[in-house]
Amino acid sequence: MKNIEIGPIRPPSESNSLLVRVTRGCHWNKCYFCGLYKSMRFSMRPIEEIIEDIEKLAQFYKGKKIISCFLQDGDALVLKTDYLLRILETIHQYFPDIQYITSYARADSITRKSPSELRILREAGLNHIYSGIETGSDQILKLINKGFNADTAVKSGCMAKEADMILSEFILLGIGGKELSEENATRTAEALNVIRPDFIRVHATGIKPESKMGEFVREGSFTLQSEEEIMIEQKRFLQQLKEMDSYYVNEHIINLLLEVRGNLRTDKEKMLSDINRFLNLPANEKLLFVIGRRFNIFFMLDDLNNQELHKKAEGALQKILNKNPEVDFTVLCNYIRQSQI
Ligand code: SF4
Repeated sequence: MKNIEIGPIRPPSESNSLLVRVTRGCHWNKCYFCGLYKSMRFSMRPIEEIIEDIEKLAQFYKGKKIISCFLQDGDALVLKTDYLLRILETIHQYFPDIQYITSYARADSITRKSPSELRILREAGLNHIYSGIETGSDQILKLINKGFNADTAVKSGCMAKEADMILSEFILLGIGGKELSEENATRTAEALNVIRPDFIRVHATGIKPESKMGEFVREGSFTLQSEEEIMIEQKRFLQQLKEMDSYYVNEHIINLLLEVRGNLRTDKEKMLSDINRFLNLPANEKLLFVIGRRFNIFFMLDDLNNQELHKKAEGALQKILNKNPEVDFTVLCNYIRQSQI
C-alpha cells in the first residue's frame, strides 16, 4: 500500500491543517530568490491518487474533528476548475467538519480563472488563498523574475476578494535591496491599499548564495540591507498602508520583531511604536537584540529586560567577535535568515 504523499511546505498559519498534496513543486519555479522547489520537477498528481490519499487521511484521523485543510504544493489554482472541484468535493465528503480549505496561488493563476469560476470554487469550499505577490513594484517584480507585473498582482487580489475568499498576501521586506528599498515600501503599500487583503503577511528577505539573487549580490548590482535598514523599510511600508480592516502579521521566525502584528485600523500606531522602540535603542543594545533574535535567544523586544537572556546574547555576540572582530553583521544576519527558509 502506498504512503500518503506530503509536500515539503505549508504556510506557518496552516500548522494544524490537514495537508492534501494536489501538485508536486511549482510550475513556474523561476523566481530568482526562491529555492523551495528547485530540485523538484513540477507535476499534477493523478486525481485517483489524491482521492486515495484523502481516504487514507480520513482513516488516520478517524474520530478527530478536522476543520482546515491546505492544498499543497506551490499553486493549486493552476489546476483546471473541474479537477479542483472534484478534490474539494472529496475533502468535504470524508471530512464533514471542514470549514476552511486553503491554497497557495500565483497571481497569474488567479487572473486566468474567470470571476464565476472563482466564485464556484469559493462556494465549493476553497475559501482562503495565500498569494505571494512579494512586492507592488514592477521594477522589483522584474528584478526577481516573478513572471507577472504589479497590475496582475492587484487584479488577482481584487478578484479573490470579489469572489468572497479570505485573502492573505505575502510580502517580502528587503527584496529590492538598498537600491530599491523605498520603491518596495511605497509601491507595495499602494498595491495593498487597493487590494485590501484580509491578511498582510510580511517576511524579511534572506538571499541564498546559490540563487540568482545571490549572484546579483556578488556582482554588486544588489546590496543587502542590514536588519535595521529592513526595519526602516518596514516602518515606511506600514506608515503608507491605509488604516483598513487588514490584519498585518510578522509570523515567521525569519522576522525580527514578531510583536509587530495587528489590525491596521486599530493597531497601526502600536505597531509603529514597537518598530520605533527597536530603532531608538542605543546602537549596542540594537546589535545585541539582532544577534539574540538571530540565535533564537530573544523572541520579543521585552526579552532584552530578562537578565539571563541578556547575558546569553552577550555571550553569543562575544563569541562571534572573538572568531572574527571584523565580522559583517549584515552578511551574517542574511546568512542566518536564508537558512531559515
Ligand atoms: S516563489 Fe512561489 S512562484 Fe516563485 S518559484 Fe517559488 S514557489 Fe514558485
